[in-house]
Amino acid sequence: MELIAPVTGMNDVLPEKAAAWQHVERVARQIFAAYRYTELRVPVLEQTALFKRAIGEFTDIVEKEMFSFEDRSGDRLTLRPEATAGIARAAISNGLVHNQRHRLYMMGPMFRGERPQKGRYRQFHQIDAEAYGYEGPDIDAELILLSARLFKRLGIEGLKLEINSLGTPESRRVYRAALVEYFTAHEQALDEDSRRRLVGNPLRILDSKNPQLAGLIAAAPQLVEYLDTESAEHFAGLRERLDDSGIAYTVNPRLVRGLDYYTRTVFEWITSAWGAQNAVCSGGRYDGLVAQLGGESIPAVGWALGIERVILLMEEQGRPIVAEPPQVFFVMVGASAQRLGFKLVEQLRDAWPELRLEAGLGGGSFKSQFKRADKSGADWAIVLGEGEVERGVVALKPLRLGGEQAEVSIPDLSARLGALLGFT
Ligand code: ATP
Ligand code: MG
Repeated sequence: MELIAPVTGMNDVLPEKAAAWQHVERVARQIFAAYRYTELRVPVLEQTALFKRAIGEFTDIVEKEMFSFEDRSGDRLTLRPEATAGIARAAISNGLVHNQRHRLYMMGPMFRGERPQKGRYRQFHQIDAEAYGYEGPDIDAELILLSARLFKRLGIEGLKLEINSLGTPESRRVYRAALVEYFTAHEQALDEDSRRRLVGNPLRILDSKNPQLAGLIAAAPQLVEYLDTESAEHFAGLRERLDDSGIAYTVNPRLVRGLDYYTRTVFEWITSAWGAQNAVCSGGRYDGLVAQLGGESIPAVGWALGIERVILLMEEQGRPIVAEPPQVFFVMVGASAQRLGFKLVEQLRDAWPELRLEAGLGGGSFKSQFKRADKSGADWAIVLGEGEVERGVVALKPLRLGGEQAEVSIPDLSARLGALLGFT
């Protein structure tokens, strides 16, 4: 029969990789809890109109990357390409906006129809942090420090932080006019994408990945020259806090980010390890977003981090995370041993919830079960054969630490094992 292939750009996480995913998620949850960010989960599907309005019509995501379709009742729906739009929508839908402050986080799959390559997939996963209702630069700094702490705990090195300020919509309008004038004067040098953006969203030309435009972009007017006083103060406040905290960064005046909703602060943690997939974590402030979606005006700021890229970095930097092996493998050979062993295993689990015990199910000889025990990585084997069943004992055998095998009576087994493994 013909095989059914997986969907292009969508990956399975195999058991040997799952430990790394769980580790990253666990460390992130710990840090979020420590900073008092609470989890908000939003649906994977939203109305297409949400992303068009939030992210902007002239962005890569909305122009060419969304998985959109019509459902049976004719509604236009889209698999979420990012988290912020859905969270802002949820904040409005659930009345979390008026006079409130929230520190939120989310984790989960995102979908973008990009060309798959290393670090770039069609289903990928993000950890996302957001703060609503905080106006000043202190929360921007906290969010950046939180991400820095996460990288540190994960042992990831060599990431560079770039920051910039996009100002307010007003100061950006003035800058935008200057950019349009500049790029119009050089229109013949632009590529097709950039020509289209010249009309729709000229700032996005700065974000172009076309190397032929690099020189032109480098010579373009810079946003910082057009920054309004309050945005400049906000930016200075952020820089001060990063300096105070000893976080190294560079100001990249061309950092504009690929989404329309940003105001003031934008930042990226980048790696030099790969080509175009250099962003590991990106974020910024989007004070206008909630109002743009029809809610009350409320300041907001956040970031998103790509879990696949973080795990790639951990692997490349020699920090692969492997699942913890069992402490004990329970060898049971023969019909009565299999039956009694099955029961004993559950009693041990009742006594020691933290016990990692692999039961030798599925039968097999002593030889084959010991092979499996070795392969499992367990430190100890509990051995139960027909002879042990008759005598009411098991053998406790060290598999890697050396030492003698000992016989333990079944009523003593649980306490003996607990003492051996340091459970209390
Ligand atoms: P890029 O410049 O690499 O396309 P982006 O600016 O589109 O990234 P964001 O929308 O800011 O990325 O998403 C936040 C993070 O999600 C990125 O920093 C990256 O780590 C990750 N990410 C984005 N797109 C993908 C993808 N297609 N596959 C895997 N990870 C991704
Ligand atoms: Mg992208």
